[in-house]
Amino acid sequence: MTDTVRAATSFDPAPPHLDVADVPLSVPQFTGREWAYVKECLDTTLVSSVGPFVARFERTVADYLGARFAVATASGTAALHIALLVAGVRPDDEVLVPALTFIAPANAVRYAGAWPVFMDVDPDYWQLDPAKVRDFLRNDCRWQHGALVHRATSRRVRAILPVHLLGHPADMTPILELARDHGLVVIEDAAESLGTTYGGQRVGRLGDVGCLSFNGNKVVTAGGGGMLITDNPDWAARAKHLTTQAKADALEYIHDEVGFNYRLSNLQAAVGLAQMERLDEFLTAKRAIATRYRDRLGELGLQTMKEAPWAWSTFWLYTVLIRECRPGKTSRDLLQHLHRSHILARPLWQPLHRCPAHAGSPAYRVEVADRLYREAVSLPSSVGLTQEEQERVVGAIAAWVRSE
Ligand SMILES: *Cc1c(COP(=O)(O)O)cnc(C)c1O
Repeated sequence: MTDTVRAATSFDPAPPHLDVADVPLSVPQFTGREWAYVKECLDTTLVSSVGPFVARFERTVADYLGARFAVATASGTAALHIALLVAGVRPDDEVLVPALTFIAPANAVRYAGAWPVFMDVDPDYWQLDPAKVRDFLRNDCRWQHGALVHRATSRRVRAILPVHLLGHPADMTPILELARDHGLVVIEDAAESLGTTYGGQRVGRLGDVGCLSFNGNKVVTAGGGGMLITDNPDWAARAKHLTTQAKADALEYIHDEVGFNYRLSNLQAAVGLAQMERLDEFLTAKRAIATRYRDRLGELGLQTMKEAPWAWSTFWLYTVLIRECRPGKTSRDLLQHLHRSHILARPLWQPLHRCPAHAGSPAYRVEVADRLYREAVSLPSSVGLTQEEQERVVGAIAAWVRSE
């Protein structure tokens, strides 16, 4: 985390390491049945991928989202990789990905041999902008032999990959309509947004396939892991196959293609299941943190996070924009101030059309993502954040706003 902050910014913010930050950014809480379930794994020696917790965790998440199938994976990135493969994304296809996101979905597109096309986000909710997706599909693509082709690259456009960023849903209705009209599949990245709803429906099962992450900083953690969500039985079966080395015969070890070891362990699933049992409490805590930040920081003149009329956001990382509250002072000055106070805050991710790792990929009219990257600061948002800790964060920001 600290390395990310350092690399992403041009100043030396000297962020405190997680260990020494008094108020960390987003850390998990294990006060449910995690210990009991982990003990069960150790007592039964079922610590690896065989064991009852994997299937229980999958079933619990699938039921929570109202989906038919869930396939556990070693990480959210692995879930995205497999989702792209089962959705039929082939080498040299293109996938529309928002420029403003953690890098995982763009990397997964490259693992599949395909190319991301970086799209802009909207200025209000910071999600994939359907208007620009529409313009791109109408103006920059053409039909050729029954396939939609990006004029500039002559590559087939196969999928749209909206990311539900920071706990807020992407505007799915127009995205799903555009996908249907253009013969594209929709792969949702809901890694930051387990429990978020769009028009009353939980994200992750609105598209053709959805992906979750159980990394340590996500709402529910398994100490690492991910899940692929779909209603399509063939895709679910193929996902299970591909994530388990494509083993076609369990006794003879016959593999019918080159698969992956993307399994989740029983130990991880045990932690994840115990966390799922607490999800409603976690989301209530996140929303309460968000309300307090909104009320207190809004008074100080910072632009706080919005929630669309069709959204129920889970505010994964509460993020504010630093614009004109102090002339001449930037988001990076605030970050530095918070780090000196041993409060861990961070900028948003460097927009991916500027990321050296993805220099070879096209982008389409990305503007808003750049501005948000300059102006945004994500604040401590752990589910266990106490009111005292939050007052310390607010107090530090107030002192910065008022200082000369
Ligand atoms: C965390 C995250 C992922 C997946 O991350 P893993 O660490 O591989 O589990 C994917 N997409 C987004 C937007 C994320 O924030």
